[in-house]
Amino acid sequence: MVPISPVYANISSFVTKYNWKPQQNALKPKEIDFQKDLPWVRDNVLTTALSEINELTFAPEDIKYMESIGIKLPFKSGRECVDFIEKENIRLHFAKPYEKGVHAQYSFDRNAIMINKKYQNTKDFAVMLAIGEAILHEAGHAKDKDGQSSVQEELNFLGMNAVAHRAFIKKYGKVFSNSTAPIVADGVSIYEKLFFDPDPDKKRLIARMKEKYGDLPSGDRLHPPGKIARAVLQ
Ligand SMILES: [Zn+2]
Repeated sequence: MVPISPVYANISSFVTKYNWKPQQNALKPKEIDFQKDLPWVRDNVLTTALSEINELTFAPEDIKYMESIGIKLPFKSGRECVDFIEKENIRLHFAKPYEKGVHAQYSFDRNAIMINKKYQNTKDFAVMLAIGEAILHEAGHAKDKDGQSSVQEELNFLGMNAVAHRAFIKKYGKVFSNSTAPIVADGVSIYEKLFFDPDPDKKRLIARMKEKYGDLPSGDRLHPPGKIARAVLQ
């Protein structure tokens, strides 16, 4: 074998780099054509949020980690969720929530995801990403077609939020750290920490779920309760 000279080694690493970029682009999902695919979405904040989740890939190791703690993600990528919204004609709009402090909700009767009106004209990119995460979560509820929820169902969707949140941090760095908006600071950022807590018993996650979702049944037909969901109701 001929040893590679330092000069050739440099050229070869340059060539590798050069080839790598177009391949990355080829893997990039195609952009959403809002005119054609989602003509009912016109708002700038919502189109940004949807475009961001459309490009979001979840780390396979994060999905595996979730499975290991009994969490099943309803979508395996952001694209899968956007395709579902398109196929099911799910409407998206800003509205006053039924209950104070709710960031987003899905109305089964209207087949619509509603985002809290107070974020309507946000200029904060972190909030737009958090709205994207809220859309992922609520689309999970839409997928069930039952208008009901359970602790395990919420765990599955919040776990997906935690995985999506990590993917956004990987892509944009410390984008969320300066945002004080409740949808970020008391929403998406919290669940990333709680699900990826090194505590194997996930005591803090269980306490939070008890406080927020303690009135729901532990599981349902589509979401049989795992260890964490059962602990929430103990
Ligand atoms: Zn929910």
